[in-house]
Amino acid sequence: MTRLLIMGPPGAGKGTQAVGLAERIGGAHISTGDIFRENVANETELGKTAKKYMDAGQYVPDEVTNAMVRDRLKQPDAESFVLDGYPRTADQVDELDTILAEIGAKLDGVIALVVEDREELVQRMIKRAETSGRADDTEEVIRHRQDVYDEETAALVPIYRDHGILHEVDGTGAIDDVAARIGAVVDSL
Ligand code: AMP
Repeated sequence: MTRLLIMGPPGAGKGTQAVGLAERIGGAHISTGDIFRENVANETELGKTAKKYMDAGQYVPDEVTNAMVRDRLKQPDAESFVLDGYPRTADQVDELDTILAEIGAKLDGVIALVVEDREELVQRMIKRAETSGRADDTEEVIRHRQDVYDEETAALVPIYRDHGILHEVDGTGAIDDVAARIGAVVDSL
C-alpha cells in the first residue's frame, strides 16, 4: 500500500503528474477538482454548491470538501492513492489525518512541486485555457487562484516538513523529466 499526496501551485502540472504517479503505484487518483467538475457537469447538489466558488477561483468550504474526501477514501479501490488538490488548507490537513486514522492508514509521502516563477505558471495556465474549457481559466481568476494558493496552501509545506514526510521536487522542465524526479522519490520511500 502506498498513500501519497501531491501539491504545488496552480499550473505546476500537478494534475498531469498525479495521473502518472497513481499508475506507477497502482493506486487511485483522487482529484478533488475533478470530482467537483464531475458534479458540476452532472448538476448535482454538491456541484451547484461548488460551482459558485470554483468559478470565482475560491476554495469550496471545508465541510463540503472534507465530507466528499471522506466518502472517497472509504471506497474499496482507495487502499493505495494519490491525493491531488487536497488538502489545501491547514484545517483540511487535520481532517485528512482524522479520516486516515479512522481507516487505520497514514500518508507515506507528500510530493511538493516547486516552481518559483509565478509568471511562468500564469502564462502556462493562460495557454491551457485555450483548450481546457474550464470556467475558472480566465486570466483574472488564474491570478486570483495563485494568490489563494499563497495565502492558504503554501503553509502546508512547512506543516508536512515538520511531519517529516515532505519531498520537494523541481517542477520545471519537461513533463517526463519531472515525472522521473518524482519516480525517484517514490522509489526511495
Ligand atoms: P483544481 O482542479 O485542483 O485546480 O481545483 C479546481 C477548483 O476546485 C479550485 O479552484 C477550488 O475551487 C475547488 N477545489 C479543489 N480542491 C479543493 C479543496 N481541497 N478545497 C477547496 N476547494 C477545492
